[in-house]
Amino acid sequence: MALLARYGGDAKALAGGQSLMPLLNFRLTRPAGIVDLNRIGALAYIREVDGHVALGAMTRQRTIEFSPVVARRLPLLREATRWVGHLPIRSRGTIGGSLAHADPSAEYPAVLTALEGEVLARGPRGERVLAAGELFETYLTTRLEPDELLVEVRLPAMRAGVGYAFEEFARRHGDFAIVGVAATLELAGDRCVRARLVTAGAGAVPVRLRAAEEALERDGVGDDVVRVAARRAAELVDPDSDLHASADYRRHLTEVLAARALCRARERAAR
Ligand SMILES: Cc1cc2nc3c(=O)[nH]c(=O)nc-3n(C[C@H](O)[C@H](O)[C@H](O)COP(=O)(O)OP(=O)(O)OC[C@H]3O[C@@H](n4cnc5c(N)ncnc54)[C@H](O)[C@@H]3O)c2cc1C
Repeated sequence: MALLARYGGDAKALAGGQSLMPLLNFRLTRPAGIVDLNRIGALAYIREVDGHVALGAMTRQRTIEFSPVVARRLPLLREATRWVGHLPIRSRGTIGGSLAHADPSAEYPAVLTALEGEVLARGPRGERVLAAGELFETYLTTRLEPDELLVEVRLPAMRAGVGYAFEEFARRHGDFAIVGVAATLELAGDRCVRARLVTAGAGAVPVRLRAAEEALERDGVGDDVVRVAARRAAELVDPDSDLHASADYRRHLTEVLAARALCRARERAAR
């Protein structure tokens, strides 16, 4: 913290380096200093505490992929992790780095939003907690101050029986998603008591598709309702066009992937 403060907001924390190093190589960022977090062992852990799972910011994506606690309590996070880059990237990349980097196509910001998690930030003025909805401001921009570190990620443990799925489409295996969708469904008989549906890559930040969730919570999870909710999902997003895909194509993918994610989540919940 003292080192970050010494540069008056013009230093960058180095976590796994999987996004920061390319930015430095391309001279897209030119900080006055780099503060390497890699030897701070106290920032890497996965702990179950009072109904939630706390993950230290420096926990590697590969550790998350194989954690028995994550497999049991946060299966959506585990499934999403398999979509993150390639093995060498997951071996270095961290959960804190991914959230602080805030790439709109990244999987972890969508999972944080779907599970209604929060992050703990620490800076010279003390600690504060930011909910998923507060953390992400726009493309590659969070509400963390330049002299603040993201130190912990807190995700409510998923209740046993909650159905979940992470679906995405990318042109090559390991690429960032063009669009990704995270879904969770909690069923009680034919009723859906809680639905969560969030996109990655269909806007500047993860988009929570509340009106689609409400349709499921009101009308259940039959095939017709899933179709309606997926169509509603596509109407709710406002993606940009870029060299990877047009806005229309992203909207189309949102509908297709939302339907797939909801069907798989429903299957798991029924099981
Ligand atoms: C070829 C390739 C493919 C990839 N594919 C995917 C993909 O499909 N999905 C995906 O999600 N990601 C993908 N990534 C990115 C990867 O997941 C990165 O690991 C991640 O985005 C950043 O994590 P990191 O730990 O490497 O952070 P770094 O690169 O070290 O840092 C990223 C940014 O976050 C800041 N930062 C890091 N830690 C903290 C902290 N604790 N507090 C405050 N600020 C912090 C840094 O200062 C920097 O600005 C890919 C990367 C590559 C190179």
